[in-house]
Amino acid sequence: MRILVINSGSSSIKFRLSEAVEENGALATRPALIEGAVKGIRGLVSFEVTGQQLGVSTDKIQAQDHIQAMRVLMDRLGDSLDSVEAVGHRVVHGGDRYVESTLITEQVEAGIDELSELAPLHNPACLAGIRGAKAVMGATVPMVAVFDTAFHRTMPEVARHYAIPTELADRHRIRRYGFHGIAHASLANGYAACTGRSLREARIITIQLGNGCSIAAIAEGRSIDTSMGFTPLEGLVMGTRSGDVDASLVSLLAEREKVEPAEVERWLNERSGLLGLSGRSNDMRELLRVAEQQRDERAELAIELFCYRARKYIGSYLAVLGGADAIVFGGGIGENAPDVRKRICRNMAWCGISLNADRNQAAVGLRPGSAAKISPDGSMPAVYVVAADEETWITKETAHCVQAIG
Ligand code: ADP
Repeated sequence: MRILVINSGSSSIKFRLSEAVEENGALATRPALIEGAVKGIRGLVSFEVTGQQLGVSTDKIQAQDHIQAMRVLMDRLGDSLDSVEAVGHRVVHGGDRYVESTLITEQVEAGIDELSELAPLHNPACLAGIRGAKAVMGATVPMVAVFDTAFHRTMPEVARHYAIPTELADRHRIRRYGFHGIAHASLANGYAACTGRSLREARIITIQLGNGCSIAAIAEGRSIDTSMGFTPLEGLVMGTRSGDVDASLVSLLAEREKVEPAEVERWLNERSGLLGLSGRSNDMRELLRVAEQQRDERAELAIELFCYRARKYIGSYLAVLGGADAIVFGGGIGENAPDVRKRICRNMAWCGISLNADRNQAAVGLRPGSAAKISPDGSMPAVYVVAADEETWITKETAHCVQAIG
């Protein structure tokens, strides 16, 4: 089955066209026929595409919104789209309603729209991607929504609730939904593929460190807890997000800085994290560079706090799982920054976590879908780096969903 995956972010659309095939009774995916991204929507956008018969091409185009960008994308893909049998869309928030990948009908579209209230930065972009694809491809090609929250539907009640009045939580649908589910599922599956172990027998902690960062405790292939909660603001220190803070900061800062609470929330989302601490950048590469070369103390503190928070969560998830078989790093930082992995795992020999320095240093720039062990043989929990392949996960989910409806 030929499947086009659309991954719409606030200012970009990533895409991949590939084939899902049955192999030995399981679904497998063939290498991408075409993949790429449209970046910088709302102005002069760059369009990058790589294809088996195309080589690599990059150019600049004008697109004011996702629908225009989708039109350009579909235009450029041209004839390759004729054979598309289904489209899989990544959708950030499925709330309590969509707990598995779902065929998109008008009703589902309206449901995703309604959930924009819970994910105002993310769901509207996903929806624009869906509407853009429909406008161009017509309504006959089945489209599937693959939700980022769905993987965490298995979290037990104790992990899903905040200790606030139940009536308030129920009235406003306040739950710990968790996000980055597609990434955590891909990391867990990457670990299983690399070790040949079944996820049913494993307890693992997956750590997704990119611009957004989150960590998940996974037992028997099911998410037991995760660091992001009602919104993607909770948990680890991120590029521009604070992660965990005392909730009373919001009213204090609103009052003292004479702004609305919503403005403080924006600061916590957009001006905090690595950027806020360092006063310089949300880019880990840049911070590692200035911390080393210029002995920049704020950059150093930002990196240390980032790693300290991750270590603290690993400790708590070891307690939640009763120990772990493996720790799995992924995301732009997790895949490419040995120094950050080393700092996070520092002084954890008490629980068996240690790194092999050479393996850690060598595990950078892995091919999507591949994995590398970075702990010494025989140590437990073992530590792995996995280059998550979200598009493959979305392709398989889409194929399963379309097959299920016959
Ligand atoms: P997103 O969450 O937007 O998908 P990515 O997963 O691409 O983000 O991760 C972006 C982060 O990865 C940035 O902080 C970037 O600095 C960091 N990163 C990428 N390559 C490296 C590297 N070689 N060393 C350190 N950090 C890196």
